[in-house]
Parts: sequence; C-alpha cells; structure tokens
Amino acid sequence: MERVSVLKCNGYDRAETGRNIRQTLENLGGIENFVKKGDRVLIKANLLMAKEPEEAVTTHPSLVEALCREIVAAGGVPVIGDSPGGPFNKTVLKRVYRMTGMEEAARRSGAELNFDTDFVEVSHPEGKVIKRLKIMKCIADADAVISFSKLKTHGMMLFTGAVKNLFGVIPGLIKAEYHFNMPDIEDFSNMLVDVCTYLKPCLSIIDGIVAMEGNGPSAGRPVNMGVLMASPNPFALDYTAVTAAGINPQEVPTVCRAQERGLFSGRMEDISIIGSDLGKIKLKRFETPSIRAVPFLEGRMPEPVARFINSRIKAKPLFKLSACTGCGDCARNCPPGAITIMDGRPRVDLEKCIRCFCCQELCYNKAVEIYRPWIMKMVHRRKS
Ligand code: SF4
Ligand code: SF4
Repeated sequence: MERVSVLKCNGYDRAETGRNIRQTLENLGGIENFVKKGDRVLIKANLLMAKEPEEAVTTHPSLVEALCREIVAAGGVPVIGDSPGGPFNKTVLKRVYRMTGMEEAARRSGAELNFDTDFVEVSHPEGKVIKRLKIMKCIADADAVISFSKLKTHGMMLFTGAVKNLFGVIPGLIKAEYHFNMPDIEDFSNMLVDVCTYLKPCLSIIDGIVAMEGNGPSAGRPVNMGVLMASPNPFALDYTAVTAAGINPQEVPTVCRAQERGLFSGRMEDISIIGSDLGKIKLKRFETPSIRAVPFLEGRMPEPVARFINSRIKAKPLFKLSACTGCGDCARNCPPGAITIMDGRPRVDLEKCIRCFCCQELCYNKAVEIYRPWIMKMVHRRKS
C-alpha cells in the first residue's frame, strides 16, 4: 500500500503553509523518516523561469521556506536548486531565485541556494532508455533529494508533477540533447522515469494549492485547486494528483510507463490517502492539452499511412507575432534547430520540428501557442 498525504489548503499565507507542511510530514511519519541529522538535502523545486509566484509557473516559495525550516529543525542542511530552462549559469540562477521568491525563502529559513553550475556524468545500469545521465553536481553532492513540484499541464507530457519535475536536474542546454535524441513520447517518458529511478527522491511533494491548467507549463491559467500532496513514492503521488485534477491517469505518459515497469500498480485501491478526502478536492473541470495525434488511426490502417496522416494533422507550435519580441530564446533552445529568426521574427521548419514544445515552454512572453487542428480537439473532447 502506497501512502499519500492529501491536505486541503486555502492559500499561501506563511503561518498556514508552515502548519500544512508540518502536518504533511506528520501524515507520513515525520521529517525524521526522510532526513537524518547532518544530511545535505537538495530540494528540487520547479523553477522553470524567472516568474513571480502568483503566475503559478514555479513552486510557491512559502511552501519551500516551510519545508526548509523543518529540515533545519531536524538537523539537516536544506539546499534549494534547479536548472531552469535555457542556459545554466549564475546570472540566470540569481534572477530566477530573486523573481520566484526563493532568495527570500532561503534567507528566512537558513537554506542554501545552489549556484554550482557544474555537472557530473553518472551511470544508471537499471535505466530502460538511458544508462548514463548528466546531472547537476549539487545532486551528486546531496545525501537526499526532495522533489517539490508544481501541479501543471504540459504541452508534450500532458501533466507535470513529481516525476517530470526531476528532468530539471539535467543541466541547462543538455536538456535539448535529451529531447533531440528521444523525440518519441514513449521514449521521452521512459527517460523521465529513468531519471526518477536514478535520483530516488526520499520524498515528493506537489504544490497544487494554485495549479496551472490550459497552455502549461508556463503560459496556462492559474487555477485554485487548494491541495498539497506528498508521498515517498513519486509515481503513486502523480497518479493521485492527476486523479484529483480530473485527468485520466492512463492518458499521462509518465504514469503509464511507471505502471508498465511495475513502479506503481495504477490502482487507486493500492493508495492509502492520509488527510483530506480526495473526493472533496477533485476538480470538476481542468483544461488539459491533447498531446497525441489521432490514436484511433493506429492499428486500423497500414502504419505508414497512419503516420503520414498523423504527421499532417498533429499539433504544431504557432507564434503570436503581436506578443513576440524577437528575443530568439526559442531558436536557441529548439533541440533540432528548427527555428530561425528572420527580420526579428521566428520561423519554424515543421519538417524538422519534433513537437517537443520547448519553444512554448520557454517563451517568456507567452508568444508561442500550440495549434491543434479541429480533428484533434474533437477527439480530445470525445474522450474527456
Ligand atoms: S516566440 Fe518568444 S522566445 Fe521566440 S523570439 Fe518571440 S518572444 Fe522570443
Ligand atoms: S519548433 Fe518548438 S516544438 Fe518544434 S522542435 Fe523546436 S522547440 Fe520543439
């Protein structure tokens, strides 16, 4: 039986988040279950980009602060870290920590902020699609890792929570190599599961107090969900989180891969919810993107024909020129180099595009939308 703490919360008031984090840890047996005296604990928050907490792109700093206080009280050394989208350097980190409120959270709680931008290559013989990984050095230096994610939609993976959050340990532009080498959703989601099975977070927490729906993970709408969830098993936690958001878990690639690999059964009956009633939290409506092409074509016609039709009707990035400043971030971060900036405007070569949607994820100005043809929307509507 997998234990998942579920707590109904009202907001990010610091006194209340302090109580909620303490209760969450108590629900799972106390902080001593996860942190020993003297442990260096890397808190892998979701710090995708330099956005203020109210935009719901990043893990809320009041929660991270509260967790750091508990780690300090247990005799551990909390370190807040992530490799945001784009280049991984001290200037970027400084800006991201300041804007996301992590600088203040660290100052108040006595936590360290990671500024080490080195990486190490590690071996993961049990990995299914990757046997070697390049990860941030601060992870290798830590005694324990806690995944502290934000509940959001995701253009390629549909949902980002405990497991997808850990992709951030792949430093800076090396992430693009992983996208380029694994453009297929199955391979990419297996790689995400590999990263998670390598890191073995001792605890995973999801900030779903204000979640993000729609065009996530950076350009969607904040939505009040009012829940804080945690578990020692990141796969069971993601399963619970998507269920609470009203998403069919079988549509989420990382959840499916975890089930196939026996990391979680995929049955709600195998989860012991501790705390609030999940039924009272469940959202009636949570807008998600459709991430696949047209699944019912598969197996009903020769594969090359299905592939040809799907390649013509699958989702693609669409640039909103009215919002675009021509900064070129999308071109610099496009894994196959499919974007060129001409006359200050991005142009995409759709033959080269692998539909990873990094351009949409990393555009600071929300100038990239994912265009889904009407047939995709109809299929999606039919299924939801
Ligand atoms: S689409 Fe976004 S990232 Fe790309 S050039 Fe325009 S503003 Fe920059
Ligand atoms: S254009 Fe956008 S979606 Fe296509 S490969 Fe580049 S970053 Fe990925």
